[in-house]
Amino acid sequence: MLRLTFLGTSAAQPTIGRNLSGLAVRRDRELFLVDCGEGTQRQMIRYGTGFDVDAIFFTHFHADHYLGAIGFLRTLSMLGRAPPLDVYGPKPARRLLDVMLFTGTERLDFEVRIHEVAPGEAIRRDGCAMVAFETDHRTPSLGWALVEDERPGRFHPERAEALGVPKGPLYGALQHGRDVTLPDGRAVRSDEVVEPHRRGRRVVVSGDTRPCRGTVEAARGADLLVHDSTFSDAEQERAEETMHSTAREAGRVAREAGAGRLVLTHLSTRYDREFGILVEEARKEFAGPLDVAADGMTIEVPLP
Ligand SMILES: [Zn+2]
Ligand SMILES: [Zn+2]
Repeated sequence: MLRLTFLGTSAAQPTIGRNLSGLAVRRDRELFLVDCGEGTQRQMIRYGTGFDVDAIFFTHFHADHYLGAIGFLRTLSMLGRAPPLDVYGPKPARRLLDVMLFTGTERLDFEVRIHEVAPGEAIRRDGCAMVAFETDHRTPSLGWALVEDERPGRFHPERAEALGVPKGPLYGALQHGRDVTLPDGRAVRSDEVVEPHRRGRRVVVSGDTRPCRGTVEAARGADLLVHDSTFSDAEQERAEETMHSTAREAGRVAREAGAGRLVLTHLSTRYDREFGILVEEARKEFAGPLDVAADGMTIEVPLP
């Protein structure tokens, strides 16, 4: 399973319909948050993501992207969480998150491990990596690419049998990509009985950013790109000043990357309900499946 649940899709300030930034990513047994704006924990309850978060990945430390972690960690502590929680983010993650851990007078009852991450670093998780890539915002910032491991190719026991491979350890070796020698001296190559590796899924979250190379590279061939789309063409200048993207620019990044699907998020309050223009403008650049995120929207990313 690989499921995204949008917990907050508004830029800078919440509205009645949209919370501040937060995205839950459930992949098999693990649950990640990408950003955790104020109010995120209530959105998690509302949309039933569960609280069993394994790691939080911050894109940057503008307040609307991380203040929610303060309250959320307190709740986890009250609920008796025991496993350590890993949190990752660009500079100054250590300074800001350390302060957050000691906010209030109660100590947290579980360990929080803070990791300051530089672009290019890959965080190993169960069956996938979270790869940090360089983005272009007013403060140190990262995008995150969830990159699944390759899946082994399909094994064909009937082919092995036809080649006279005796059942047992040689089957296992072939399945794991090793060529083998049969008892009678004949060689059998793994690729005679196993199909090529199948690629895993790739989901990319830009965080707040101008359109940039880093995102295009990270989203190359991605199944899904979630991109900053704070403004429309009418506010191109403002997008440049504040170092965000317009919907059209997000569409261009998706097209250049050859992404399979684009979801626009982090909407300025003026597009809260009138987001049709964003779709229209992104559409001029990107022909694939295209949506504006809404709080509570879930996306299942199918296996390729
Ligand atoms: Zn933001
Ligand atoms: Zn920001």
